[in-house]
Amino acid sequence: MLKSNILIVEDEEHIRKFVRINLEGEGFIVWEADSGEKGLEIARKEDIDVVLLDIMLPGIDGFEVCKILREEIPNIGIIMLTAKSQDIDKIMGLEYGTDDYMVKPFNPKELVLRVKSLLRRMEGNNPKEMDEIIDGPFKINKYSRKFLKNEKDIELTPTEFSIMKLFIENAGKAFSRDEILNLIWGEDFIGDSKIVDVNIRRLRSKIEDDPSEPKYIETVWGVGYRWRNNI
Ligand code: CA
Repeated sequence: MLKSNILIVEDEEHIRKFVRINLEGEGFIVWEADSGEKGLEIARKEDIDVVLLDIMLPGIDGFEVCKILREEIPNIGIIMLTAKSQDIDKIMGLEYGTDDYMVKPFNPKELVLRVKSLLRRMEGNNPKEMDEIIDGPFKINKYSRKFLKNEKDIELTPTEFSIMKLFIENAGKAFSRDEILNLIWGEDFIGDSKIVDVNIRRLRSKIEDDPSEPKYIETVWGVGYRWRNNI
């Protein structure tokens, strides 16, 4: 994953420092602004993913900054930094469209978790990513997680969908069972790679014209499986 750019807009220097140390420790690139005006300037110039936005700022306040950001850069993530006394309903309301908020004083570990979870949510609807891939009679839509063959819906489980996505994005590449296991189930999965074969068998019965003679999901003898390049 690319390194994400996080901008903190906050007039209190010690909070900026402490947020910077914690986010940099997690590998994020951190930008700082001590006013709303400077924050907007950075957000317009740099490829910022998430803004941590204080409300009480000198000059224009965090609410105003939030409104401007939502208008100019709709897909930017915004987490408001608030005091206890501030109205959470207002912050999370439609007018500002904040993604999340943290009440000061906050735990830095909690902030890191919120930033990561926001980034994960954003990944799913990143318009920069191509949502749909067409491959022969197949169409896979990563946004709606739909899979079609000859324009007909094929119901896939989330695991089957992830395997199809992996195959179609890497057409022609031979994957070993262990590679598929690591990429789909994760490296800490404890179990047998037979689970890969079980899923492939089920996938073949769903997507092949004749599952006993698969022509899309090919077996690579002694290795694993390969999606034939159908384009
Ligand atoms: Ca402040």
